[in-house]
Amino acid sequence: MEKYSLLKVIGEGSFGRAVLVRCKSSQEQYVVKEIQLPKNQSKLENSRREAILLSRMKHAHIVAFREAFEADDLLCIVMEYCSGGDLLQRIRQQKTTQFGVDNFFFSQILKWFAQMCAGAKHIHDKRVLHRDLKSKNIFLTDNGTIKLGDFGSACILNSSKAYAHTYVGTPYYVAPEIWDNKPYNNKSDVWALGCVLYELCTLRHPFQASSWKSLILKVCRGAYPPLPNHLPYELQYLVKQMFKTNPKDRPSLHTILTSHRVSRLLRTHL
Ligand code: ADP
Ligand code: MG
Repeated sequence: MEKYSLLKVIGEGSFGRAVLVRCKSSQEQYVVKEIQLPKNQSKLENSRREAILLSRMKHAHIVAFREAFEADDLLCIVMEYCSGGDLLQRIRQQKTTQFGVDNFFFSQILKWFAQMCAGAKHIHDKRVLHRDLKSKNIFLTDNGTIKLGDFGSACILNSSKAYAHTYVGTPYYVAPEIWDNKPYNNKSDVWALGCVLYELCTLRHPFQASSWKSLILKVCRGAYPPLPNHLPYELQYLVKQMFKTNPKDRPSLHTILTSHRVSRLLRTHL
């Protein structure tokens, strides 16, 4: 860590903490995610996986990896700093304005959505699953560009067994097949992005309930409150496809990004 001087702590979680630093030689700012390394050998591999998988990504809409090193019992992942906060903060902020989801915000949503899909497609093209896509893990740069972050749950495609047992986070984004104890797959990431798209368009979660049990029921039925009528038909259709309960019926990111309906949506609203 001698290369960097600590500026402030920006996030704290079960893993350890995320700190903003400045590189002493270049003066550039970075984020260092410090992860407490476990003593247990197999858990150790899990912790290292985050750094390895992030280091394999290189895309305009994924947080850029700089380096990783181990110091004592800490794994430090040095990455690009996204100073614009995350999408959850943006959604909360939009809720407090008088405008809600107006035309201006709507065209912003579509831009963000296209960027998220491009980033997530890159992850899938590298045969990796993110497994924790949610508004809190989607960061923004100072100029409002999307960067997918937090590879702490990511895994290599086909290496994943049933996932529900190990799931610890907020359950709002978890796809029906996971509750059904099927393996996590690329379409489960698509479901999660559908949740983020819906959340941006309504400033609410699509699947919400007062108990886990009724939440899971709603998710498994694919039952969500309809989007406001004034939103374009192409968007209603897209959300419906992304929330197909059978993952096979859900479009891949490639399909979404090349679909005529989605391009028409972007063309007419950007
Ligand atoms: P976890 O969710 O597992 O605790 P994250 O990787 O999401 O770990 O990091 C925790 C928090 O630290 C994030 O929610 C975010 O506020 C902040 N953070 C992490 N990485 C960055 C980054 N590259 N740029 C800006 N903030 C970041
Ligand atoms: Mg996170």
